[in-house]
Amino acid sequence: MSDRVQAWIGLGSNLENPLEQLARAVSGLATLPDTTLLGQSAFYRSQPMGPQDQPDFVNGVVLLETSLPAETLLDHLQALEQAHGRVRLRHWGPRTLDLDLLLYGNQTVATTRLTVPHPGVTERDFVLRPMLDIDPQLTLPDGRSCQGLLTQCTDNGLKRLQPSVTDGLATPPHPH
Ligand code: ATP
Ligand code: CA
Ligand code: CA
Repeated sequence: MSDRVQAWIGLGSNLENPLEQLARAVSGLATLPDTTLLGQSAFYRSQPMGPQDQPDFVNGVVLLETSLPAETLLDHLQALEQAHGRVRLRHWGPRTLDLDLLLYGNQTVATTRLTVPHPGVTERDFVLRPMLDIDPQLTLPDGRSCQGLLTQCTDNGLKRLQPSVTDGLATPPHPH
């Protein structure tokens, strides 16, 4: 088997019960072939980028260890998006599930299908905050610290969602 690599995946959803979409996606990622789930962040609510006439997003990050090549991993991510009924309508529009390959070890990839590190990593608080949940010391392949980058991000109104949250995203608990 080829070398195993630590791959960081960003998850996002703002349609059809986003928390459930993300929970199911984490299970799907954990069961990819030749892949182990090493870590999972909290989930966060964030305001949408781009078009504002859409619901807030829920975002999270998982850390995988995998021996899948980067492009094969992307194939699996896109298949999972399809399995979640993702329809591509407009750029940065609403979606049931978005899976971005954020980092693939310390490697850089620049093909027509794949840019790694994902260009959004350096400037998105809804990516950096959850990555830092998993590894507070995380640095990018170019040596920049994620903690340092986070302090320079535009504020997307990020809110950490506790498991008991009843703010309209999670199902409220039944009264006793
Ligand atoms: P953004 O990439 O700015 O977060 P987005 O997630 O809405 O925007 P998509 O429509 O999901 O963009 O993806 C467009 C294309 O980006 C995909 O078809 C894929 O080939 C390409 N892509 C390039 N690099 C990556 C990456 N690191 N992870 C996922 N997709 C990537
Ligand atoms: Ca994205
Ligand atoms: Ca994407």
